[in-house]
Amino acid sequence: RILLNTVLDQAKENVKGIAITVQDITREVALNEAKAQFISNVSHELRTPLFNIKSFIETLHEYGTDLTATEQQEFLETANHETDRLTRLVNDVLDLSRLESNRRYQFEAVDIHQPIEQTLRTHQLNAKDKQIELVQKVAADLPPVFGNYDLLLQVFSNLVGNALKFTEAGGRVAIRAYPTPLKRQHPDEPACVRVEVSDTGIGIAPEDQEAIFDRFFRVENRVHTLEGTGLGLSIVKNIIEKHNSRVHLISEVGTGTTFWFDLAVYETEDADNAADLD
Ligand code: ADP
Repeated sequence: RILLNTVLDQAKENVKGIAITVQDITREVALNEAKAQFISNVSHELRTPLFNIKSFIETLHEYGTDLTATEQQEFLETANHETDRLTRLVNDVLDLSRLESNRRYQFEAVDIHQPIEQTLRTHQLNAKDKQIELVQKVAADLPPVFGNYDLLLQVFSNLVGNALKFTEAGGRVAIRAYPTPLKRQHPDEPACVRVEVSDTGIGIAPEDQEAIFDRFFRVENRVHTLEGTGLGLSIVKNIIEKHNSRVHLISEVGTGTTFWFDLAVYETEDADNAADLD
């Protein structure tokens, strides 16, 4: 009997062992497939601007003397534009792969006014050029949030950049931040700061609202210009998830879009966890 129990125990152990191995392999296969898909998408996206740059340089090299000065200038400008596109793409891919690696990020108390101010300063000129009003409505007495300054700056910058890109002249882009919930129901209800980036732009159809967070997904429309990599919102989603939160959006085609998320207020006990969060 003792022998039988021992054999059964061993069998159970073995079965458990096998089950875990199978699960691990399935996860590994899924991860490898996702990686392969990503690499294939990246290569595809890199090939187009590279091909364009090469074609323009080749044409200038071979037929430069047959072209007028204006034509030559146009070719160079386009090649330059394509190089910018390539740079944006490589930067976004690097940012995303850094975010998805096991790199640790320093989390600390962040005064949300600062990344918002910095984002506005960076985008003000672009807004003026496009004749879009860029405004902020940030409550003066906001508590600090528990986050990473650089990552949050990137979120604001990507969202405001998109809002400006998909809004026509005469439109308005706004960043708001306010405490939420406005009245706490329970003392232990987490206190957050809600951030909203809204625009009066082209809007996003309901069927696209989930997919826009996927890597390389871009809605086919007339504003689908050369700029943009289709990675900006994947980066935003990843960063907000690192802050233990989720990105939401409300949008109506032809009316505009609001992206919003909550960030946890910095509590004194966060100081213990402040360093090195994944
Ligand atoms: P992209 O580099 O193309 O902007 P994103 O990942 O930032 O990539 O966005 C994916 C797509 O989501 C965009 O190409 C666009 O179709 C749509 N989108 C993002 N933000 C907005 C917005 N504020 N208004 C309308 N469409 C948007």
